[in-house]
Amino acid sequence: MDNPILLPATSSPIDLPAAAETLLALMHAQAEVARLSEREQLFSSLLVSVNAVLWAFDWETQQMMYVSPAYERIFGRSAGLLLADYNEWRDSIYPDDLDYAERSLVEVLDKGSIEDREYRIIRADGQVRWLSDKCFISRQDRNQRLIVVGIAEDITEKKQLEGELQRLATTDVLTQSSNRRHFFECAQHEFEQARLLDLPLAFLLLDIDDFKLVNDSYGHQEGDQVLQRIAECGQSALRRGDLFGRIGGEEFAAVFPGCAPEMAKQIAERLQREIQRLHFQCGDKAFGITASQGLTNLSDADTGLEELYARADAAMYQAKRQGKNQIVLV
Ligand code: GH3
Ligand code: MG
Ligand code: MG
Repeated sequence: MDNPILLPATSSPIDLPAAAETLLALMHAQAEVARLSEREQLFSSLLVSVNAVLWAFDWETQQMMYVSPAYERIFGRSAGLLLADYNEWRDSIYPDDLDYAERSLVEVLDKGSIEDREYRIIRADGQVRWLSDKCFISRQDRNQRLIVVGIAEDITEKKQLEGELQRLATTDVLTQSSNRRHFFECAQHEFEQARLLDLPLAFLLLDIDDFKLVNDSYGHQEGDQVLQRIAECGQSALRRGDLFGRIGGEEFAAVFPGCAPEMAKQIAERLQREIQRLHFQCGDKAFGITASQGLTNLSDADTGLEELYARADAAMYQAKRQGKNQIVLV
């Protein structure tokens, strides 16, 4: 049988070594394509399983170049829309955080990387989530295109835990009002603000009268309830922005920022009336509660919060000496 390969009449004889080399190169290329496609599959499955959004942004064209599959899961939005229009990212940011999110993204141009970027987004279903969105510049030299790459993780649970820890660290467990340390930290801040802006400020101390007798007569648990109700009176008698805390066993304190002396006196009187109105029932025994208060106002001579505290304390003890159930103003 004739050779089925028809060669042009002018063709030279087949160069077998060269043909073998070409065939080998082809086989290598095929193997390389297979290897690359295997790698791509591996990367794709990795990106699907990673619970973070990997993204790449072309700074010059202001276009998203890539966003990993987790975007749709975390943002609850279509990746196609984001790739078509970068404004989709801006639209997903919680309005109060938009300014920060944009500013911190621009900062990457100077710093090269921003690792502590945290902001909130609103998913398409209305859920608000916290993100940690680190970003880095990805270019080796100035001639290359400026690409910013990033990794965004959902840190909502971590934020909630942080909030809970913060609440536990600053709150008195029994009364849910500020604890001593947190109260004095906030009071110090308000004192400095009042000094800086030349604003009035009042400081109040309150101690429950004959509280030991309450414990002795009705039990410690009943005493605890009294403390809780007194804290509720504090919360309702004070204005928004006033500070209130439990600074000792049966001792509470308040700071009224920006409050003129006459107004501070009225708030203290309101608190006094609310406490007098409290009514407790323990079995068949009913009882009421009174408290002594010391109130003082910031004066030009005061150089520290301790001076206000000391004056209010002295005033409160004067109220005790004068027969309790009263407010002493100094
Ligand atoms: P005064 O009118 O002079 O303030 O007398 P008082 O009895 O209120 O003051 P005293 O300092 O003698 O007693 C305070 C009591 O407060 C003693 C303590 O057992 C009680 N106490 C402190 N912390 C708590 C608490 O968390 N729960 C309860 N139930 N009692 C507490
Ligand atoms: Mg006391
Ligand atoms: Mg007392």
